[in-house]
Amino acid sequence: MADPAPLARPAAPSLESLGLRRNRPLVIVDVDEVLGLFMEGFGSFVGEQGYELRLDRFALFQNLFRPGETEHLELSEGRRLFDDYFHTRCHEMEPAPGAVEALRRLRPHAEILILSNAPPQAERLRGQWLARHGLPEALILSSGPKGPITADLVAQSAGPTAFVDDLLSNLDSVAEHAPATATFQHVADLRLRSLAPRSDKHRRIDDWTELGAAIEAVIRT
Ligand SMILES: [Mg+2]
Repeated sequence: MADPAPLARPAAPSLESLGLRRNRPLVIVDVDEVLGLFMEGFGSFVGEQGYELRLDRFALFQNLFRPGETEHLELSEGRRLFDDYFHTRCHEMEPAPGAVEALRRLRPHAEILILSNAPPQAERLRGQWLARHGLPEALILSSGPKGPITADLVAQSAGPTAFVDDLLSNLDSVAEHAPATATFQHVADLRLRSLAPRSDKHRRIDDWTELGAAIEAVIRT
């Protein structure tokens, strides 16, 4: 989840500049609704601002309401809340159950890179959140479909590669631009799982223990 309007995509950094080795498998992992319970954290923030986040469908800005109203908030107001959350509160969300342990188990077998579509002002707090939860991995903040930047990153790796995200738009983009990369869909929030569309093109695994084992099987073959 997250991922509103794309901004200009920065050039992909080199793996070396991120402290990652080229001769090992590379696993690229999303944050919101993959490593962290974004909707829960954002929903709490929105509630404190006097609004409601209703999980009626797998969407973001269309789920924001003034109490008692049936028309969602103007998109500009939703965008303001979204930016404020990332600027001030995104370090408070809970990790997705099992995610930290799964990455800990993957670490001996792969280089792990965290690729998050979040506003630039989230960088400090997002980095703090990852470090506090035992996720010292390199972090790239990006925007827009993740296929092009993922293609640039995996092209630098000699090993097998895998990509995890909750959004089919990003998974489809990676399948298009980096077809050799194994794609996995994970939806962390229990309330969103039945709402989130899935695709035959990507393995959908909502349990992190099972997902970690599936990623390990792919990168160790
Ligand atoms: Mg996400």
